[in-house]
Amino acid sequence: MNARLIDGKAAALGLRQCIGGEVNRFREAVGRAPGLATVLVGNDPASAVYVSSKKRATAEAGMLSFAHELPATTTQDELVDLVDALNADPAVDGILVQLPLPAQIDELVIIARISPDKDVDGFSPVNAGRLAIGLHGFVPCTPLGCLYLLKQELGDLAGLNAVVIGRSNIVGKPMALLLLGESCTVTIAHSRTRDLPEVVRRADIVVAAVGRPAMVKGEWLKPGATVIDVGINRIPAEDGKSRLVGDVDFASASDLAGAITPVPGGVGPMTIACLIRNTFVSAARREGFSYEKSL
Ligand code: NAD
Repeated sequence: MNARLIDGKAAALGLRQCIGGEVNRFREAVGRAPGLATVLVGNDPASAVYVSSKKRATAEAGMLSFAHELPATTTQDELVDLVDALNADPAVDGILVQLPLPAQIDELVIIARISPDKDVDGFSPVNAGRLAIGLHGFVPCTPLGCLYLLKQELGDLAGLNAVVIGRSNIVGKPMALLLLGESCTVTIAHSRTRDLPEVVRRADIVVAAVGRPAMVKGEWLKPGATVIDVGINRIPAEDGKSRLVGDVDFASASDLAGAITPVPGGVGPMTIACLIRNTFVSAARREGFSYEKSL
């Protein structure tokens, strides 16, 4: 392995500690703690794990979490009513509706219903539009976390060739827009891209967000490239159990890359740290509280 390991756990810890300090200042100045409302509908075990780790991180940062757990039979109207109540609640700065939602509920209707100024996941059409035209809003947590890691690793990104593999609304597209905002020359590759290895070979920065285990091979990379692996794929392990791997073939890529994120321990911890960041920033904006610029 020649590449430097980009330690997402350490970066996330640093970000969370910084936010913890800012939350203390906020509480003293404003007289309340920032609050995140989490909404979990149904009993999907993976969603329950995600929501409980988000609640834990919220408490660790000194913020309040308001947990709402609804049955799988919840109707769309009932969920809309809950979102409306949270939009109107002054103690709630951020609203997180855990996806996926049960089939009877239209996710887009719910996401669009969340007040854009409390949409700390950054999924609403208003925040997607703000990102596209360079206005302050909320950026989805996973690409925001990737950008933190890239800036920490590379400093100024201007002029670099960046290839984002994947064009989802929650990772690929916002990632590409963030990199464009940093003045990278951005290519978005996807399932219909021709000759992906050739596209990847031009990149100084590769962000892989596909959902296919070890798809991106080391020999595709430009030597010295910085590789951010967003993928989380569970595959069978030798001991009969299972293990997590990314979208990048770590063994071959870590020989050619300049720096690379591991899976687990790379992008994952940054996603939660950025949710905490967005919730704090929402509270600060709503209260007119000025905060550490590096956030
Ligand atoms: P998605 O399924 O919505 O999108 C996948 C994208 O990959 C699509 O745009 C598709 O065009 C592209 N794609 C599919 N096959 C391809 C191929 N052969 N070549 C090139 N592109 C191809 O997935 P998503 O929600 O964007 O998530 C992507 C991965 O990131 C998943 O593994 C997911 O688990 C992971 N993820 C991780 C975090 C985190 O916190 N680390 C957060 C969100 C998603």
